[in-house]
Amino acid sequence: MKQDREGHDPQIDEILNRALDGRPPTKDESCALINANLNDLQDVVQVASTIRDREKGLRISYSKKVFIPLTNMCRNRCGYCGFRKDPEHPEARIMSPEEILNLARKGDESGCKEALFVLGEAPEYEHPKARNYLQRLGYSTIIEYLRDMCEMVTCQTRLLPHSNPGVLSNEDLAILKDVNASMGLMLESSSKRLCNRGGAHEHSPGKNPEVRLRSIEVAGQLKIPFTTGILIGVGETLEERIDSLFDLKLLHDKYRHIQEIIIQNFKAQPQTPMELAPQPTMIDMVKTVAAARLIFQGKTNIQSPPNLLPGAYRDLLCAGINDWGGVSNLTKDLVNPEAPWPEIDTLRKVTNEAGFELILRLPVYPEYIVRMDGYLPSSLEEKIRSVRRPLQQNLMFHRPSSLSHT
Ligand code: SF4
Repeated sequence: MKQDREGHDPQIDEILNRALDGRPPTKDESCALINANLNDLQDVVQVASTIRDREKGLRISYSKKVFIPLTNMCRNRCGYCGFRKDPEHPEARIMSPEEILNLARKGDESGCKEALFVLGEAPEYEHPKARNYLQRLGYSTIIEYLRDMCEMVTCQTRLLPHSNPGVLSNEDLAILKDVNASMGLMLESSSKRLCNRGGAHEHSPGKNPEVRLRSIEVAGQLKIPFTTGILIGVGETLEERIDSLFDLKLLHDKYRHIQEIIIQNFKAQPQTPMELAPQPTMIDMVKTVAAARLIFQGKTNIQSPPNLLPGAYRDLLCAGINDWGGVSNLTKDLVNPEAPWPEIDTLRKVTNEAGFELILRLPVYPEYIVRMDGYLPSSLEEKIRSVRRPLQQNLMFHRPSSLSHT
């Protein structure tokens, strides 16, 4: 790369040259990258794209999922959340086992591989309505109920569970590991400021970054293939975004369990405290995705949801993602209900047009299936391998001859 070009910062060139040689940027260098001017940003994106191609190839994965909103009651009240319902709200609920099984069966019949359990955090701690409902079902905590629902779905369908139940104790993580192909917890942000008065997480004890990082660390100790990520545009600075990525990198370097980092943009939801807050722009997303790729290089998968910035498919691909995350043909994104997932054919078309091939994956990434060192729960190991076999065969018999992108 040429140095000292007009309109370009030579320091950025140096950082990018080192990144191309496999030496990821330091935290300070990453802050310089995410603050790069538009001229330099083009180079940042180009290098991120080159590293993605080299480390991950030209296949972009997605998971076909059915979204199971186990409960929309939650002990937290995040300023941007449109999913949570107060217990007195007529739509506040916990799904019954029959509802869960019906939905899971429909997902199975329509070719989904993943049962994505999404739920508010520990609603029984705050809300008698949640406690009473759980008691009627024979449970004292939502985690005990979730555990049994994962087992039921595993036994009665071909789906593989992936649960996102919020922060968890060591014991709860261990219990859920046994019945999940993988699990998830968004860090969202390492910024403690967001928990202060007026911040997005002021009323959300579960969003204390230390508590979340602790859960993600325990997941590493337990060898749980783990999905995490950051939510951008909720009041954090660019430097705090980089702090968040480095906090995750520290844990991943230690435990190697973070199978994917999601870079998710905040979308303002009506009737929430942040309904009028500005949303991140496409440039904001692109520079954050590119920074994440440069920091993590090929060490993990970088994902951006395809429904939250429609029309930006090519930009996100160019910035270095290698995964679109979960897509459903059956259920809405209930966290962002105004943002429909693209049809899978549409996603395939736009991915192909950008020079990539779209491939189906399971909720647990292949690298954790191949590794034989305790990442798969023994109760699911056989099932995971058998669900994966036809996907592998498809890939073997279908080798695209001329993938390339500019
Ligand atoms: S974003 Fe999650 S943790 Fe926050 S209020 Fe909504 S459901 Fe609860």
